Amino acid sequence: MSKKRDYYEVLNVPRNATKKEMRKAYRKLALKYHPDRNESPEAGEKFKEISEAYAVLSDNEKRAQYDQFGHEGISGKYTWDDIFRGTDFDRIFRDLGFGFGGVDTIFDMFFKRGTRQRRHPQRGTDLQYELGITLEEAAFGLSKEVKVQGFDVCDNCHGSGIKPGTDQKNCERCKGTGEVRRTRSFGYTRFTEIQTCDKCHGKGVFIENLCDTCKGTGTVQRPHKIKLKIPPGIDSGHSLRLSGKGKPSVQGGPSGDLYVVVDVKPHEIFERDGNNILCEAYVGFPQATLGTRIHVPTLEGKAKLKIPAGTQNGTVFRLRGKGVPRLRGWGRGDQFVRVNIRTPTKITRRQKKLLAELAEEMEDKVTFK
Ligand SMILES: [Zn+2]
Ligand SMILES: [Zn+2]
Repeated sequence: MSKKRDYYEVLNVPRNATKKEMRKAYRKLALKYHPDRNESPEAGEKFKEISEAYAVLSDNEKRAQYDQFGHEGISGKYTWDDIFRGTDFDRIFRDLGFGFGGVDTIFDMFFKRGTRQRRHPQRGTDLQYELGITLEEAAFGLSKEVKVQGFDVCDNCHGSGIKPGTDQKNCERCKGTGEVRRTRSFGYTRFTEIQTCDKCHGKGVFIENLCDTCKGTGTVQRPHKIKLKIPPGIDSGHSLRLSGKGKPSVQGGPSGDLYVVVDVKPHEIFERDGNNILCEAYVGFPQATLGTRIHVPTLEGKAKLKIPAGTQNGTVFRLRGKGVPRLRGWGRGDQFVRVNIRTPTKITRRQKKLLAELAEEMEDKVTFK
């Protein structure tokens, strides 16, 4: 935190300035920084600073406290309420021709109540849509028009949420400020609590008659058609951002964005590992022993793969460049084929006889390692 400036310095008055000189100095500065004159945030900060300085120095007791103990002497003893109540801000502002109430203006500035804040229209919220695609679509990309549950500004109330022909009222509980201030006394000490108004949730206004069409939300759900261009190589969890395709702002601000999150559905044969594709092939013991050629399914049709004679169970073969194209890059991954030896479970009498003969011929021994 920056160091708090000396009050006399802030008002640009000598330490022995009279009350009259103090008021004159404050009036001069208020003309420059009052929110009716200057809406910039810098001016707002300045205005807070000079008003606090003036509130303290224009009161004999607080001034004495400040002269002796400095800023700690003030913050340790007084609440904001104590500091500002009883000063002549009302009169000064009236004299200067400002339309806004005196002490209340100061409180608005200090506690950022809605009324003096310049309101930027809020941006619409972002929406998310999940798009399920096949592995082939993820690998090679696709252009697709999809229907999503979108939102439009309500035609009936134009986003206000108020039933047409009725008015919104300033909240009675907080008088439109959005905050409730409660002061309690304990002996000589006073505590001021500031809470968000529970009736209007800090909005300051309370809508009694909600728009029938949108139930007060200001937007209605409507299916939207959107065109998607999914780039080749995309994977589950990747998302596309469609700027401005989210929820519209009911305050006339920009719309939110729509995020399309991709979910690649599991494939019957293939497993994806980054840009590589894995699959399992099952061959018989005779084929593995004698060697064979098989046709392996790939993302694009079949590819030939030579299984050499004497291939062991679990051997992995690589099909170069048959994997997934790199997202926004060059080249493709590979496809890996693991060859498994299939042991038959149901065999015919003839097969059994042949195998028995073969076993005898081969004198198969059990080995460990
Ligand atoms: Zn309220
Ligand atoms: Zn409406």
